[in-house]
Amino acid sequence: MDNSFDIIVIGGGHAGCEAAHAIAKLGMKVLVCAVRKDRIGWMPCNPSIGGPAKGHLTREIDALGGMQAIVTDKTSIHVRWLNTKKGPAVQALRAQCDKSLFQKEWETILDENENITIREGIVTDLTSDGNSITGVKFDNGEEYKSRAVILATGTFLGGMIYRGDERIQAGREGEAASLKLSDSLKNLGIELDRLKTGTVPRIHKDSIDYKNLELQPPDPMHPGFSFLNLPANDLPKLPCYITHTVPETREIIMANLERAALFSGDITGEGPRYCPSIEDKYQKFPDKISHPVFLEPEAATGDLSGEIYLQGLSTSLPADVQDQYVRSIPGLENAKIVRYGYAIEYDFIDPQTMHVWGASKKFPNLFLAGNLVGTTGYEEAAGLGLLCGVNAVRYLRDEEPVVLTRDQAYLGVMTDDLSVKGVTDPYRMLTGRAEWRLLLRFDDADRRLTPLGREIGLVDDERWSKYQTREKKISELTESLENTRAKADRILDREAAGPPSRNLAEWLKVPGVKLEDLLRKGLIEGEFSKDIVMTVESEIKYTGYLNRQQSEVKRISRAENVKIPVGFEYGGIKSISHESRDKLERIRPRTLGQASRISGVKPSDIAVLDILLARKNAE
Ligand SMILES: Cc1cc2nc3c(=O)[nH]c(=O)nc-3n(C[C@H](O)[C@H](O)[C@H](O)COP(=O)(O)OP(=O)(O)OC[C@H]3O[C@@H](n4cnc5c(N)ncnc54)[C@H](O)[C@@H]3O)c2cc1C
Repeated sequence: MDNSFDIIVIGGGHAGCEAAHAIAKLGMKVLVCAVRKDRIGWMPCNPSIGGPAKGHLTREIDALGGMQAIVTDKTSIHVRWLNTKKGPAVQALRAQCDKSLFQKEWETILDENENITIREGIVTDLTSDGNSITGVKFDNGEEYKSRAVILATGTFLGGMIYRGDERIQAGREGEAASLKLSDSLKNLGIELDRLKTGTVPRIHKDSIDYKNLELQPPDPMHPGFSFLNLPANDLPKLPCYITHTVPETREIIMANLERAALFSGDITGEGPRYCPSIEDKYQKFPDKISHPVFLEPEAATGDLSGEIYLQGLSTSLPADVQDQYVRSIPGLENAKIVRYGYAIEYDFIDPQTMHVWGASKKFPNLFLAGNLVGTTGYEEAAGLGLLCGVNAVRYLRDEEPVVLTRDQAYLGVMTDDLSVKGVTDPYRMLTGRAEWRLLLRFDDADRRLTPLGREIGLVDDERWSKYQTREKKISELTESLENTRAKADRILDREAAGPPSRNLAEWLKVPGVKLEDLLRKGLIEGEFSKDIVMTVESEIKYTGYLNRQQSEVKRISRAENVKIPVGFEYGGIKSISHESRDKLERIRPRTLGQASRISGVKPSDIAVLDILLARKNAE
């Protein structure tokens, strides 16, 4: 094997896979290092992609030319539209995938790409010449050279599994931890801290009594995640079920609380705030007895097809307690646990030490992505991986990095949040983190990002042509709605007062009037997919709100456009507070807008900085 590459990616998880795919698509040679090749693209937790905000990220990755949505569509076994009764900003798809097929799909994508080489094994060292990273060294002493490195090691650095009083050094169940790589990073002056996460017990599907469980069937009518509109896969479509914990569940957990690894004092890292363990939930909210438990299939094919994931029951309790409390839950009285839940603690790098485009502030050719840099989730990892892949290539080509903004994409919100605010617990994307949610909808990610993906070189001719066709259909439908008039009785299905006739675009702004009904009544000719209907309907119905959000973006965009030079000297500025100076120096925001979002930096100090930057830019 050649031992010299343009870029080396340490990690074959969701971040590493998207990074490698993007690099290869942009024409560079990349080495992907993974502890186990047969775990490339593995989903160690629930094999589910999407939901509000996370699904938006998957769509944005797709719009830019990434692969997560395609892999999801090819392997989904249960897809549902979420939040359909709520506004368009929070509606999204969520898919349960076949875990084994999802993994295999990613492995094949990397295997078949001639620009990608996979090296199975454990990287122990990053090599450096003091200014930049020069390559990696494996545990058998083999060395590989590259001009840039992407670090995407997930939960593997210093990984330690906890279950009751069991302690197992591991990157996750069944895979060795990366211990020496942590030391190598520390030797390079990169500081590490600890975070933790956890997973649930899995039970065998034949040990469940389904009689009294609430059925959650898959939704047959959905457009799929990818804007490529792939044909539906032919995998079996499986239902999910819902049950709830009961007083006995709480009693068992509370009686064994001191046996939970989480409360042993051994774990110092914070866990994901929005995905707490069941013992955490009972400890923090002892009066809330009943918690929902979602029974979700892990796979429809192969060895994992018997396993059911118990969403909501993440735990660090010992195996015998897991057996007891799971069996206290209605429908699970005879449940056979086939895999026990566990917590895992791992090293991560403070994302404030990373530029908003993914590069380390210490080594310009080292890029950081995924759980390693404080995120949690496949979608967050994949999004950062893609951006790091693109920006590592651009760095080597001496091109400006791609920086997405908060009004452009959830990916922009995430990179800005991570690099400017840092994290205190694993960062999960939520719609509430975006200030302009209506501008960042699930349905319009391609309109926001596909032209950029084309410019970068990630969007191929097929995707571009589909994008242009969709744009044409959107214009066609919008024009038809503006040019077709109808009377109230035709729209409202009753005798109605009001203007004798309006155009359909105006009718659409009336509460309760739906575009799919107008199409069903034959008021407009032509076939329009659900995706196009969603986009046109949202843009007409919510024109007022959209305009308001756009003006708000414009109003504050001045600060976002005031760039701060990379090596800007804060030390000499006497007229700002110590706290502001220290934070600005450490975090090194890229724009005045970012500087203003750093907690503890005062508005008066931002005003001073604004004047100084104006002077500097005028020099
Ligand atoms: C127990 C557990 C519970 C989780 N719970 C949740 C949850 O509740 N919600 C949620 O959204 N997400 C959860 N996740 C997180 C989810 O799995 C990750 O967010 C996602 O997989 C991160 O992707 P990644 O690419 O950063 O890393 P990973 O998918 O972890 O991939 C890391 C890759 O790096 C490779 N690697 C690491 N070190 C080395 C080395 N030294 N040499 C060579 N290769 C190396 C590994 O082989 C692997 O290929 C959980 C993960 C685990 C393990």
